[in-house]
Amino acid sequence: MGKTIIISNRLPVQLQISEGGIVATPSVGGLATGMKSIHSSGDSLWIGWSGLTDEDIPKKLDKEIDKALTKHNCLKVGLSQKEMEGFYFGFSNRTIWPLFHYFLEYTEFELSFWNTYKSVNQKFADAIIENSDDNDIIWVHDYQLMLVPQMVKEKRPNATIGFFLHIPFPSYEIFRTMPWREEVLSGLLGADLIGFHTYDYERHFLSSVRRLLGLEVSFNDITLGNRMIKVDSFPMGIDYQKFKQAAEAHDALPEEKRSILQKRLDDHKKSAPDTKLILSIDRLDYSKGIAKRIYAFEYFLNKYPEYKEKVRLVILAVPSRSNVPQYKLLKKEIDELVGRINGELSTVSWTPIWYFYRSMPFKNLIDLYTSCDIAWLTPLRDGMNLVAKEYIATRIDRTGVLILSEMAGSAYEMNEALLINPNNFEHQAETLKKAITMPKKEQMARNMFLQTRLERYNVEVWAQEFMTALNNQIKNNEAFVSRKINTDILQDIIDDYASAKNRLIFLDYDGTLADFHNDPQKASPDEELYDILDHLHNQKNTTLFLISGRDKQTFSKWFLHKKYNMIVEHGVWISRNGKEFSLLEKVKSDWMAKIMPVLESFVDRTPGSFVEEKNYSLAWHYRNTDPDFGEKRATELNTVLTSLTSNDSLSVLNGNKVMEVKSSNVNKGRAAVRVLGESDFDFVFAMGDDWTDEYMFEELPKSTISVKVGRQKTQAKYFIENTKNVRELLKKFID
Ligand code: UDP
Repeated sequence: MGKTIIISNRLPVQLQISEGGIVATPSVGGLATGMKSIHSSGDSLWIGWSGLTDEDIPKKLDKEIDKALTKHNCLKVGLSQKEMEGFYFGFSNRTIWPLFHYFLEYTEFELSFWNTYKSVNQKFADAIIENSDDNDIIWVHDYQLMLVPQMVKEKRPNATIGFFLHIPFPSYEIFRTMPWREEVLSGLLGADLIGFHTYDYERHFLSSVRRLLGLEVSFNDITLGNRMIKVDSFPMGIDYQKFKQAAEAHDALPEEKRSILQKRLDDHKKSAPDTKLILSIDRLDYSKGIAKRIYAFEYFLNKYPEYKEKVRLVILAVPSRSNVPQYKLLKKEIDELVGRINGELSTVSWTPIWYFYRSMPFKNLIDLYTSCDIAWLTPLRDGMNLVAKEYIATRIDRTGVLILSEMAGSAYEMNEALLINPNNFEHQAETLKKAITMPKKEQMARNMFLQTRLERYNVEVWAQEFMTALNNQIKNNEAFVSRKINTDILQDIIDDYASAKNRLIFLDYDGTLADFHNDPQKASPDEELYDILDHLHNQKNTTLFLISGRDKQTFSKWFLHKKYNMIVEHGVWISRNGKEFSLLEKVKSDWMAKIMPVLESFVDRTPGSFVEEKNYSLAWHYRNTDPDFGEKRATELNTVLTSLTSNDSLSVLNGNKVMEVKSSNVNKGRAAVRVLGESDFDFVFAMGDDWTDEYMFEELPKSTISVKVGRQKTQAKYFIENTKNVRELLKKFID
């Protein structure tokens, strides 16, 4: 087992240059805590920016800084001020951040930002490549480094790479506005496992992958060349014990040892015991909806004036990214807003809003969490929102009400909170009233559920689960790769073929011998294919069958003159040695008139799809539809058809972008077994690419050499990548 390499924009240590030299102190942020068990156990290296630009670091101290970082198993990626401008304040915070939080109006598509983002991502990737080998597990974090997985994979194809996005992944409609959207997706797809906070972000990502890159997605697996990439959601937790224990210690503190802030909060409580404190804590970021929250508070006080002097809003806005113009404007807006409302509504004994614009030390955060009756968190869009979880963890007597925006990732796991839409002032005013008047018993009942969940799924469990999934992904891929036809397996197959006395070969056509085409008629055989099939067909002691879902007219046109043996329409018709097709199965077709209108209605409602009418089956093709929409419609059609066909001895086959209805006594497996029974074959070979071929793999005897084209789940013994490889393999039989 190799080492674990963690990569994030910032290293989990704070550097201070002082007279006495360099001091490196570990950070206490959520990610650093979550990764602690991984980073401190065994062999691990954390690569990231140190927080100091090249210009900030005196040349003579560079080595010393490296040494100080090494003590914490950290390695710095040096960045100049100019690089930070384009990479961090530019592309990361003026392009990706607003876009991924649905603030299109703040999103800047600036080519120079993008170029710097690429070159800085390459710097991070180079640092990884230089310090890793193939056995290492690499975990890349967040939106600043989305190109790194691919950059590393290119140089280290065997390395195991995980990526976690800590912010939302937006809907396709938003994501597709980005000029460099394909590059960003491809960058991420260098990873073997891609994690998001919620299922919705995962779903949005998969949709973009399908629509923009046209890749196959099956459930949450993406197939890219010969790689399988897993996408999953891992909602990030908090260091629950840290917050709980801090709250317990806070509770036990004698009055004289309390902080100045706590004393002020206590004074407030003593002077106005009926007044409720409402807490709002966020970084000062437009995605947090702070200004809107203040407007909603004003709306609430106007709607329910009886609560004037009975509530106080405590706002802690933590300075953030103040180099970005949008954040400067936001600060001004909030300063003015608080000033106006306090000016208009304050009384001699009451100021409605207490406003702090600063970062608070941990102990003061605990003061606020434990003293406020309500936490009111209304982000317009938030990847997760840890403050919501921290507030609940500190409520050791289980009182307290959490009002949380539905737009926060954490809302998915915190159903017992009062969930609101931050744009709905009316509902927020009612919810505030409900929170203020909520009986203690109800508060405790709600928080009990929340606390149990948060305690169990803490940040450490989050990190471990991601690592476990990443390890499983390696195993899955290894298991897969072991079934790939490599040179040794190929040689064994060729030897068996050579020594066999009586061979039987079943070859599917579309997706196996020929690639798919938007128009199925255009996927006709080329000279190379005819040549291969001619040779196979003419080999001594060899019975070759083309076995397909195609109709007999098309196959007659393409192959009858060649005298190949053929089974078409999944086993309805058979032709041998150039003779006309005859029925292999007795099938009914009277059901077709009933099913046709259903399929036609789906054609009407699904642009790009069409119905193919075969002699004994009907096929609805959706290769040319919008991929997401097509899949959705296919699922819908499947449900409709299954209910319609249950008594009709019909079955529905899900092929590759085609859904086919036919008599259930017909399938490729049944047809293949019938042919098999006609002679004593000592070499049986079957190859196909989709669900309809699975019948063949399943029903032919165990000794059959069955080969699936592509990496999807299969009953086949082996798999091969694509039609090109199929042809190469067949050529080996006839060499
Ligand atoms: N926080 C802090 N100092 C403060 C206020 C908040 O360190 O003065 C922490 C808080 O405890 C939480 C984090 O900042 O862990 C904010 O995380 P969240 O997910 O809520 O929002 P983000 O800032 O990541 O968008």
